[in-house]
Amino acid sequence: MDKLGIVVPCYNEEEVLKLASEALRQVLDGLIAKGKIDKDSFILFVNDGSKDRTWELIEEEHKAHPVSVRGVKLAGNVGHQYALTAGLVTAKDMCDVTISIDADLQDDVDVIEEMIDKFHEGKDIVYGVRKERKTDTFFKRTTAQGFYKVMQLMGVKTVYNHADFRLMSKRAVEQFSKYEETNLFIRGMVPLLGYETDCVYYNRKERAAGESKYPLKKMLALAFNGISSFSVKPINFITGLGVAIVILAILAAIYAFISFFAGNVVPGWTSLILSVWFLGGIQLISIGLVGQYIGKIYMEVKHRPRYNIEKVLDVE
Ligand code: UDP
Ligand code: MG
Repeated sequence: MDKLGIVVPCYNEEEVLKLASEALRQVLDGLIAKGKIDKDSFILFVNDGSKDRTWELIEEEHKAHPVSVRGVKLAGNVGHQYALTAGLVTAKDMCDVTISIDADLQDDVDVIEEMIDKFHEGKDIVYGVRKERKTDTFFKRTTAQGFYKVMQLMGVKTVYNHADFRLMSKRAVEQFSKYEETNLFIRGMVPLLGYETDCVYYNRKERAAGESKYPLKKMLALAFNGISSFSVKPINFITGLGVAIVILAILAAIYAFISFFAGNVVPGWTSLILSVWFLGGIQLISIGLVGQYIGKIYMEVKHRPRYNIEKVLDVE
């Protein structure tokens, strides 16, 4: 029987922790009763350097439910993406399949069963995808959707309307942990693993208690990190801009010459304006070119795995 580990990153979540623990334990109990997961399945709370009583509450829960509630305490606040990675990497050695979910119960815990079913059908990764965003504010909805659009435009493969509620098999987390890059954008990395995936759909709820730990500033940082960690398109954009400006320079040259021969210009204007345009264009192209190399170096230093073998057929 497969042992499930539910990984929950928590930052200042004292208001919601007990609720989350209870809701998730109920899900575990239900799945254990149906014989879908091992009886030693557990929830792994990752305390991301909370300043409130979150860790004390995790300890209390663990004492009351030693098997089903476990905890990891990070030394200081490292941010959601890192806390989640710490949790997944720790959990993978304790179980056969992981599910990551936020502490605030915005993601529907009832689809966990569906995720497990898909895992038993042989999927290594199952994404939780939001059907609609009725409960989000207009602002959150539009910025979030703009974010997915920009990512798409930049050629970063992400699953639309999927955040970090997902199932990953042990081997998927193992392969994921080989991506040793420091700038983490997990939802861009998981599709790179290449395993068979599936989606389950749910309606996103309001936060059960407490308030969002993702203010606009953190959200923008996440978005920029996502783009700059996965895409060298901004560099290509500079090169393209340089080429466009050189083309404009040629047009400007034609115009300057016509004006020159028409005789209605101040002496010196023609050569001046031509230099400005040409130099500007050439500089941009050069920066773009240098950027291309930096982009390559950037991708190299990530030391990402170059492939991921799913199966080998061999004689025993
Ligand atoms: N979180 C974390 N470290 C941080 C910020 C957030 O571990 O520095 C956790 C938080 O406790 C929650 C999850 O990340 O479980 C998502 O945060 P939140 O629900 O506040 O984000 P939102 O849903 O508003 O985007
Ligand atoms: Mg939330």
